[in-house]
Amino acid sequence: MNVLVYGAGQLAQMMYLAAVPLGIKLRAVDVKTNTIVDPVSKQTLALSIEEAIEQADVLTVEFEHVPEDLLEQAHQSGKLMPSIASIQAGADRVLEKQALTKLAIANCEHLIVTQVEQLEEAVEKLGEKLIVKSSRDGYDGYGQWRLSSKEQLPELQSELSKLDLEKVPLIVETMVPFDRELSLIGVRNQSGEVRCYPLAENLHHQGQLHVSVAPAPTVSAELNAQAQQAFTKLANEFDYVGVLAVEFFQVGDALLVNEIAPRVHNSGHWSMQGADTSQFENHIRAITDLPLGNTDANGKSAMINIIGCDDYSEDLLSIRNCHLHVYGKSVRPKRKMGHINLTGDSFQSLAEVMTTLAKYLPLNHFPKLLGEADKLSDIKE
Ligand code: ATP
Ligand code: MG
Repeated sequence: MNVLVYGAGQLAQMMYLAAVPLGIKLRAVDVKTNTIVDPVSKQTLALSIEEAIEQADVLTVEFEHVPEDLLEQAHQSGKLMPSIASIQAGADRVLEKQALTKLAIANCEHLIVTQVEQLEEAVEKLGEKLIVKSSRDGYDGYGQWRLSSKEQLPELQSELSKLDLEKVPLIVETMVPFDRELSLIGVRNQSGEVRCYPLAENLHHQGQLHVSVAPAPTVSAELNAQAQQAFTKLANEFDYVGVLAVEFFQVGDALLVNEIAPRVHNSGHWSMQGADTSQFENHIRAITDLPLGNTDANGKSAMINIIGCDDYSEDLLSIRNCHLHVYGKSVRPKRKMGHINLTGDSFQSLAEVMTTLAKYLPLNHFPKLLGEADKLSDIKE
């Protein structure tokens, strides 16, 4: 079997690493240069995109922002999984909100804005604490603006008037005073079987994921059912094949969908050490029509993102139940450089590993680590 992935970043690399033991070969399309590369060495292969498509059994994506012409070409081959509609909905917040509304899945109150003047109406309808998101090409908090009071509106309007909003509308959302952020990673195969990982709790800083804990502490059966229901509705709607991620805000006992990602997801990286089958392996299994793997968690896990730095000590590898995954990139502010997976038998033992890990890290780049370790150590199981 041959898989061709659109995108040649860390997600393609981790899919590759999961595909090797299954005897599956994987190549990547670098969508910036329109070349075919090895997803680990990043070396260019002497192959056109057309030849690579021809030689592949399945095409998939590591991110949703694949240029339209390439995505259309992939779709035309008849080999693209997940479906083009699901990838487009993940890439365009207008289509995403339309799908959520159609399926009656609770999400954030919002308005679609194509003229800066409409922001005044948005403040009237949604209140003055707002988050404004570009409907396309946003990630890691990029392409977002926050309004905390009406007084800031003229300044925001003048900044947003530089954009072509008819072409790329804005989504204006109420700033949700959520209790916490959760995500559900699940997989659906070609015959419609769905398996979900346990919910993960996600801690963000400046719009970027820093820490995930899975299974999320204190999740009621009811909450879990809500999440799985939303996931299954979305996956079935798109006749989805592969791993799909759904991000939620928990407000009291209710879940609101924040966004969906039609791919393996950063908040599922814990599954590499913390679940029977990783999200990467399950994605490969689903798209190549192999039986799905068990998604149960083995104990408790934390995933710590390494962001904007590489001056941690590799001696962290001496810690028991601690695994390093580096992506081989040069350092830039806010760039995801790698992640560290930690496991424990209980939240207390996981908290101990987190506290030990802190000694090996430049803590200014890990603002969520120790606070979360403290919280986990207080959980009574
Ligand atoms: P990514 O692709 O990395 O998940 P993104 O840039 O696509 O991120 P979102 O997930 O929409 O953007 O937003 C990033 C973070 O900003 C959220 O995880 C959450 O912490 C915060 N945020 C987004 N929308 C809202 C909202 N309506 N209310 C409160 N906080 C929000
Ligand atoms: Mg998000």
